Amino acid sequence: AMTDTYAVIGHPIEHSRSPDIHALFAAQTGQDMHYGRRSAPVDGFAASIQAFFAAGGAGLNVTLPFKQEAFERADTLSERAQRASAVNTLMARGDEIHGDNTDGAGLVADLVGRLGTDLAGARVLILGAGGAVRGVVPNLFAAGVARITIANRTRAKSQSVAESCLRMGSIAACGLDEAPFDADLVINAISAGLAGEMPALDDRVLTRARAVYDMIYADTATPFLRWARDRGVAGEDGFGMLVEQAAESFALWRGIRPDTRAVITALRGC
Ligand code: NDP
Repeated sequence: AMTDTYAVIGHPIEHSRSPDIHALFAAQTGQDMHYGRRSAPVDGFAASIQAFFAAGGAGLNVTLPFKQEAFERADTLSERAQRASAVNTLMARGDEIHGDNTDGAGLVADLVGRLGTDLAGARVLILGAGGAVRGVVPNLFAAGVARITIANRTRAKSQSVAESCLRMGSIAACGLDEAPFDADLVINAISAGLAGEMPALDDRVLTRARAVYDMIYADTATPFLRWARDRGVAGEDGFGMLVEQAAESFALWRGIRPDTRAVITALRGC
């Protein structure tokens, strides 16, 4: 039998950690598969996934800036991908390409499963309103969160995310400078450039916070985590979420669930 091939597709893609993560999953579970990187030109996503699946490819992870386009190009969609209007996982199903979204499951698995965060009844403030936020809101409500406020630089975008999630739970939208001061948990999903600068935030958004979580990850403490730590609130970055969403994709593709903690420890050394 031929070895099944998978890849992560994005632009740029050189720095993606996904191939390392999936190689460890495959070794751990004894799966015969290969997982590589695929760079697509910004205007060439559709042609690139067409070529990948036509050549017998089994599955793709989709990252920036293509999650929205993957949602539009997939032939069939899971319910959670429809709710998110974004796709981070593609798989061949007969002649069709099926789209799913594992970001939300990944965030909750890391927050609750690994870090032991108590989400039941929690008030959550999310900074940012991009594709990643759309993916995680349904899972946060499903995990028992009582209220979500989405604060974003472009207010119309937080408004639009909140409106499409109204039926899921209590959700509000505001500008970054209007964020409430009573959140139990503050989650950052602002991709503020490679230089890593954070937009100015009012310290009082941390008044009641028991923890923060940064969906961004880096080899050293992220600017958001440093900002919170300097104000007495500890947190974790999004590397655990990255590994957890990868595990969820791997389980969809291979029908077997890898041990994520071993992989987080191996790649992070903590
Ligand atoms: P998008 O590009 O869709 O959204 C980016 C968000 O950041 C927008 O809300 C945007 O605001 C805001 N933003 C960017 N620059 C600034 C700035 N200078 N000041 C204020 N706001 C700013 O990205 P995604 O939602 O897809 O991803 C967000 C981040 O989360 C990325 O860094 C990504 O790598 C990370 N991520 C991590 C995952 C993980 O597994 N750990 C999974 C998914 C994403 P505006 O609307 O005003 O432009």
